[in-house]
Amino acid sequence: MAERASSNRVRGSHRVAPPSSALRGRVVVAAVALGAIAAASAGQTLQSDESSADISPLAGSQGTQNASAAMGMGGSGNSANTASLAAPEILTVAAKSTAAAPLEAQKIAATDTIVRKRAERLAAIERERNRPKFVKPALGRLSSGYGARWGGTHEGLDIANHMGTPLVSAADGVVIEAGPASGFGLWVRIEHADGTVTVYGHMDTITVNVGESVKAGDQIATMGSRGYSTGPHLHFEVWDPNGYKINPLTWLNEHGVYY
Ligand SMILES: [Zn+2]
Repeated sequence: MAERASSNRVRGSHRVAPPSSALRGRVVVAAVALGAIAAASAGQTLQSDESSADISPLAGSQGTQNASAAMGMGGSGNSANTASLAAPEILTVAAKSTAAAPLEAQKIAATDTIVRKRAERLAAIERERNRPKFVKPALGRLSSGYGARWGGTHEGLDIANHMGTPLVSAADGVVIEAGPASGFGLWVRIEHADGTVTVYGHMDTITVNVGESVKAGDQIATMGSRGYSTGPHLHFEVWDPNGYKINPLTWLNEHGVYY
């Protein structure tokens, strides 16, 4: 390698030297090994390594090294090489659905499957990362805030809209209560990972059950006017992990949700 680089300098060339025949041989081995892994272990390989960025293991000047590293993810590099030596037999036996296809086509199809499944999995991770983790529990108009009201304390936030407006979980959580409650008519309580509980009241219908896991934005009920209510609205409370009823608007704002 060092000699080739220096001779390039002598010639003043900026071209990258073509791979030696030994290098090309390694690329072929790597490609065969990819096919062997695809045929032999299908989904297993995909689940084994979340973080490796080896969608294009053969790209770049470090191609063969990257390919070798990718080979190693299902076990040691040595075992991958061993598998590659026995690859033709493994592929013939394992690739049932394309038994009639030429070996090269089988290898390409198997590699395509790995790449496609990995891309789908990465896309799913990306969607999960990007989806909102906190949302408005209902669309509508703030008709009453948290605090003193009518000589007492209003311990929630009122959001008014028409009957039947979808009510959704404000965050990911688990439904811990869903049914009748004094004053609320019906209520749903959802516990979140940090121990915070969100409370939804006055709904017309409830669409979740106790024990159900919900994501932020999943519908839990429809807006109504049951219980102590003067018109269709959602009464929304936030209980902190110690059980204190805190200002829901502050809590929503802290999580990037604004009315
Ligand atoms: Zn209220």
